[in-house]
Amino acid sequence: MKTQAKPSKKSSGKNKSAPRGSAKAKRPRESGADRERRANEIVTRLRGLYAEAECALTHESALQLLVATILSAQCTDDSVNKVTPALFARFPTAADLAEADPTEVEKLIQSTGFFRNKTKNIIGAAQVICEKFAGRVPETMDDLLQLPGVARKTANVVLGTWFEKNEGFVVDTHIGRLAERLALTWRSKDSKDAVKIEQDLMEIVPREEWTYLGHALIWHGRKVCAARKPNCGGCVLSDLCPSASIDAETPTPSATAAQSKHKNKSR
Ligand code: SF4
Repeated sequence: MKTQAKPSKKSSGKNKSAPRGSAKAKRPRESGADRERRANEIVTRLRGLYAEAECALTHESALQLLVATILSAQCTDDSVNKVTPALFARFPTAADLAEADPTEVEKLIQSTGFFRNKTKNIIGAAQVICEKFAGRVPETMDDLLQLPGVARKTANVVLGTWFEKNEGFVVDTHIGRLAERLALTWRSKDSKDAVKIEQDLMEIVPREEWTYLGHALIWHGRKVCAARKPNCGGCVLSDLCPSASIDAETPTPSATAAQSKHKNKSR
């Protein structure tokens, strides 16, 4: 991955408050239509930068994605991807997981943290999948929410990424932070207010972009808009972001390339 240039420490005195940590962005006064236009432009630019953005959890089936998503609570995707190959090889189907010995599952997923609770949820979800859904992961929000350990966020991951159904927005820590900094949420009280953030994003982003934008914001949050040190100087969204620092005047080559690609496209 290309390295982003460090933001310059120089400041011209204007807009000095670059975001740090989970600081709340100053929300601009703008109409709903303007906010919608800005959101669409953000999607277009992120598509120019991360055309291939997708779920970072390794999976080859709806069941694997469901289990990996349950495991990803309070844990990085990389850590999940380290334990799932052995888990999926040992328990390839929902029936296998439904009958699994909890001690064996706990041992396999221990490094992801909260392993007792996660084991209970994974086995419990597999049992409900076998008992109520003939061994197949259900494809609707209502049905998914019947599975132990599955809340709206996990259901949205499975529906959007595997079944390609845009039922809602997955709001994780990166998406919450970016929605807040980019002022794409106006009802939320902070970046952890997932329910309000999801509602706001659903209101201004075209439905067909929900899953893509979720992945792209996560990528952007990891590569550019980090929690502690956002690289506003290397960010293609700086002119659309009320949290951008003055350092946005010195974009990196990758940001410049994405911006000029976007300009050429829109001509
Ligand atoms: S300009 Fe970019 S890096 Fe800076 S806060 Fe906004 S989205 Fe994040």
